[in-house]
Amino acid sequence: MIYDCIVIGGGVIGTAVLDRLARYNMNVLLLEKEDDVASFTTRANSGIVHAGYDCDPCTAKARFNVRGNELMWRDAQELDVPHLKCGSIVVATAEQRDKLEALAQKAAKNGVEVKILDREQTFAIEPNVADCIEYSLYAPSAGIISPYQLAIAYADRAILNGAKIELCSPVTAIKKTANGYLATTPSGEYESKIVVNCAGANGAEINDLAGAEHYETTYRRGDYFVLDNSERKNVHTVIFPLPTAAGKGILVAPTADGNVIYGPTAVDTSDTSDTATTRESLDSIRANVPLSYKCAAFNKCIRVYAGLRTLIGHDFVIKQSDVLENFIMAIGICSPGLSSAPAIAEYIEDIVTGKLDPAKKENTISVMPKRKRLTELSDGEIDALIAKDSAWGRIVCRCEKVTEAEIVEAIHSPLAATTVDAVKRRTRAGMGRCQGGFCGPRVMEIISRELNIPLSEVKKGGGASIARYRVKEVE
Ligand SMILES: Cc1cc2nc3c(=O)[nH]c(=O)nc-3n(C[C@H](O)[C@H](O)[C@H](O)COP(=O)(O)OP(=O)(O)OC[C@H]3O[C@@H](n4cnc5c(N)ncnc54)[C@H](O)[C@@H]3O)c2cc1C
Repeated sequence: MIYDCIVIGGGVIGTAVLDRLARYNMNVLLLEKEDDVASFTTRANSGIVHAGYDCDPCTAKARFNVRGNELMWRDAQELDVPHLKCGSIVVATAEQRDKLEALAQKAAKNGVEVKILDREQTFAIEPNVADCIEYSLYAPSAGIISPYQLAIAYADRAILNGAKIELCSPVTAIKKTANGYLATTPSGEYESKIVVNCAGANGAEINDLAGAEHYETTYRRGDYFVLDNSERKNVHTVIFPLPTAAGKGILVAPTADGNVIYGPTAVDTSDTSDTATTRESLDSIRANVPLSYKCAAFNKCIRVYAGLRTLIGHDFVIKQSDVLENFIMAIGICSPGLSSAPAIAEYIEDIVTGKLDPAKKENTISVMPKRKRLTELSDGEIDALIAKDSAWGRIVCRCEKVTEAEIVEAIHSPLAATTVDAVKRRTRAGMGRCQGGFCGPRVMEIISRELNIPLSEVKKGGGASIARYRVKEVE
């Protein structure tokens, strides 16, 4: 079979592109290296939907961020992805006020609504900024979203609308054919008329495999603290320090799932596997958070993590290749890539449909069925669900109050969750205070039962084994 389009990479960019293309009469396929989508940068970032005031005017970053912010809230609602348009503030002392003016001028050039607030107005929005703060730049259109749930929801909707996703399929070679391209993976070869490269940290490598433009890539790691959900009551908006050349600085923000994060740092690295936090980097978060936020509570940390920014020069690279026909790339998508994803997908949809001129499918799904989450149901609704299915009465993750029924639903969702991490990203089982200490083995048993595989074959994610064999079977 010859596909119309193959998308390489299942981060938020690739899944958003697939979701758009699935609405047309085309055969579209996404090839993802890992055992789930959203397995790399898309799972480890700040989850902020930026307003777009601090991107340099006239760059791709500015253009796609501002348009992405407009589209994001509609996508989040249609896809039932946790989000909150809570606004953001950049805080400043009296001496730093002119820097806020400079940011406000950039915002005006980018067409983003912002307002400089005085001390009283700032504290009215966020009572817990540090006492030294006198001013802030308020951006009402900013907010937060669950980045991995967004990518998963794009993937699910794309599948329901007819797209295919092959997981565990790293592209290792790309050959030109009479029809277009042949992509080789360990599980098979796939031919298509058009290729869209959304391979994140490996984007430049995919270009090289195909013989498209060569780009030098650099990487910048960002470390974070995740705080217990008891801290959520203290944070009302996204709190940024003034940006620097290295990025937007160490923020304090609520997460769409109900926690609080402090971070990220900005550590240059050349290693794409460099996603382990370091003491030095975490210490710099400890030192910086109190400069903007007065309720820092590092003793409420439940986890640390790191994500990797992929940089190609100073801007995103989103275009049809100049040297290869029907080869499109969206690479070097560092921050604000999450915020820009819906707009990048819209742009790539125009390029692909401009080439193939497909008709739109009739009756595609745009609003996904609302997922039932125990924590959002009334007692009456819970009783009614238990009467139909007793799995609604069995709480597996006690920290996040996730039931067996929700886990079973995730395992049988359009893009099936087949690992403990995949279940965690869809249901939050294991994301709470105990970090899966109690529910992990139970989640493994449910996966084993539902997929009819031995417990020893249930993986954590990324191929990592948890249980190798039964202890009593060992000689
Ligand atoms: C610390 C940090 C904080 C950030 N904060 C924000 C923020 O608050 N707001 C915001 O807007 N943006 C933020 N970003 C940026 C945002 O996270 C990224 O722009 C976005 O996640 C990039 O998505 P992607 O799909 O390009 O890459 P990825 O999510 O990395 O996806 C690429 C996919 O391609 C797959 N792949 C790689 N090679 C191959 C291959 N050979 N074959 C098949 N598949 C392959 C990978 O496994 C991966 O799943 C942040 C980034 C970092 C690192």
